[in-house]
Amino acid sequence: MNNVPNLFGSMVFNDDVMKQKLPKEIYRELKRTVKEHKSLNLDVAKIVAAAMKDWAIEKGATHFTHWFQPMTGITAEKHESFISPTDDDNIIMEFSGKELVRGEPDASSFPSGGIRSTFEARGYTAWDPTSYAFIKDRTLCIPTAFCSYSGEALDKKTPLLRSMETIDKQALRILKLFGNSDVKRVTTTVGPEQEYFLIDKQLYEKRPDLIYCGRTLFGAKPPKGQELEDHYFGALKPRVSAFMKELNEELWKLGIFAKTQHNEVAPAQHELAPIFTTSNVAADHNQLTMELMKTIANKYNLVCLLHEKPFAGVNGSGKHNNWSMSTDTGVNLLEPGETPHENAQFLLFLSSIIKAVDDYQDLLRISVASAGNDHRLGANEAPPAIISMFLGDELTAILKSIETDTEFNQKERSQMEIGATVIPHFPKDTTDRNRTSPFAFTGSKFEFRMLGSSFSISDSNVVLNTIVAETLSRFADILEKSNNFNDDLNALIKQTINNHNRIIFNGNNYSDEWVKESEERGLLNLKSTVDALPYFISDKNIKLFTKHNIFSESEIHSRYEIMVEGYSKVIHIEALTMLDMVKRSIIPSVLSYVKDLSETANNKKALNAQLNCQLEESLIRTISNLSASLYRRMEDLDNTLLEAKNQDTSLATAKYYRETVYINMQSLRSVVDELETIVGKKYWVFPTYGELLFSVN
Ligand code: ADP
Ligand code: MG
Repeated sequence: MNNVPNLFGSMVFNDDVMKQKLPKEIYRELKRTVKEHKSLNLDVAKIVAAAMKDWAIEKGATHFTHWFQPMTGITAEKHESFISPTDDDNIIMEFSGKELVRGEPDASSFPSGGIRSTFEARGYTAWDPTSYAFIKDRTLCIPTAFCSYSGEALDKKTPLLRSMETIDKQALRILKLFGNSDVKRVTTTVGPEQEYFLIDKQLYEKRPDLIYCGRTLFGAKPPKGQELEDHYFGALKPRVSAFMKELNEELWKLGIFAKTQHNEVAPAQHELAPIFTTSNVAADHNQLTMELMKTIANKYNLVCLLHEKPFAGVNGSGKHNNWSMSTDTGVNLLEPGETPHENAQFLLFLSSIIKAVDDYQDLLRISVASAGNDHRLGANEAPPAIISMFLGDELTAILKSIETDTEFNQKERSQMEIGATVIPHFPKDTTDRNRTSPFAFTGSKFEFRMLGSSFSISDSNVVLNTIVAETLSRFADILEKSNNFNDDLNALIKQTINNHNRIIFNGNNYSDEWVKESEERGLLNLKSTVDALPYFISDKNIKLFTKHNIFSESEIHSRYEIMVEGYSKVIHIEALTMLDMVKRSIIPSVLSYVKDLSETANNKKALNAQLNCQLEESLIRTISNLSASLYRRMEDLDNTLLEAKNQDTSLATAKYYRETVYINMQSLRSVVDELETIVGKKYWVFPTYGELLFSVN
């Protein structure tokens, strides 16, 4: 292996490369436009494009692509070669400034949720110069945003960039009130911890459910699952270790700070965490990480499963979104400061997050809603579908003392006074004890733990940035008018804690008592995606997004439609896959086993009528009974699928899929899983859970 410092970022057109390859004044101009969020002058773009192309060709690239993130949640690219014909029938390698800054993919097949039927059909992509260009698979990739001609966002990046600008603006207003005039910019930072499964490719290829749906739709519990918890942090198997080594190297080449890796709780489950970075870059990097996990696994005869719940009864996979805000002067705004003054500022930011999470529980819940994640949230392995915040005993005690003007530390009998006392820094081990909380303060950042493993992190961060920007803007509105800053600040913090303390919960989020208690507190419990999605288009939320220019009203409606329809489509595909597996594989397996059993019994009887055929007969009887229910449940599912087409609205359809189709799928599954435990191994064509989970060596 090359040494890591040389490897790191070697496929990225980063700041160092720009400094080297660009004329000084062009470099300065590019940096200035990026810093000031201006659009790039075409003359400058032309020179940058030429330098980029030369650099990419040196590294072996032949093509370029605008790399973007449509609302499918995965990335899209359309490659074009640098080749351009000359007058004398030769070719030259070209890449123009215009090609760098703007592309026009024929994008009519990407989901737009109806936007494009009312507007221009085509979309365009525009360079996001805050995320560096990079080379992947001999292709120069330009990270871009994807919009319609009338300016509607058709992707996941545009709203994220908008939300980052909004929170920057509002946080700066607050910082100015505290006298921080040196701060020019506040950025949000994210470190996403990514969980995934690795299984053997040959076995994967025998399971249509994994191929079409990314998860198993059938599968009896193996004798051993994750009970012994012997996989967690266990030694890596050689094939897995080789995979991780190559993955790390490829990620490092792309400038992605892959940092930690370990085995997770479930057998065959692993996790990778990078070092945090700016939100939009973190989102790009996480997409690349997921993509590389898949392609590199393939090389080792493995398949990487990013589905939230590939195996029933075994822990699913999530993604922890570690989130904070920091200034261009290097201050993490969620780190308690050294002075009482800095502490008051910390408390104000903290209060703004508490209020934001309480006021917009629905949006946070929606940002993690999907058919796949419905299997996890609230299933005793992941946070429940109820949003609450964990602050830890110490910080909670401090807030309590502020709220009630009482002593917070019995031993020292001290009282927390905003702007007068210093809040201690929180060592990691005292703040991160509660693993059940969906939204936990972990010392210097919040960890939002409800994201599904296959998600783009954009949606959750758009929501986080926007709702915190909203509360910050309200706080700034009040404090900017104040004649007595300290008193009003105190009052504001106190009042906020008072009004929103119902959202703070430090106990066990997995317990039944919490479900009851949260209801008494008036917190939302949106159990499934279809319960959650309608909240997206409520007046309150439309007001929020339009006020901060994150989404226009038509963008909100289009995204809502995409999510609702997407949900129905997923369940539809799963139901069809189930029926296909039952009709063409499971029924033939069952029948041929019964046939062999009957033949055996008949042969025995022909040999000697007195021979005991109890075993064969009892098996045939049990299987016949199960087959009869199998047949009925298959018919039921078939019929409900037909009926799904007759619902009035997209939401009614999604509800029907949840309440009827999905329920029928589960009852079909239960009878198949029972059959699997009885029918002879050589008759059953699908690899079992035991094989899928324990075969990688
Ligand atoms: P833990 O293992 O307790 O969850 P780690 O320190 O390992 O915590 O960090 C988990 C993730 O949080 C890493 O990706 C890390 O880079 C990220 N992280 C740490 N500080 C911040 C921050 N200020 N903003 C965003 N992410 C952060
Ligand atoms: Mg974590």
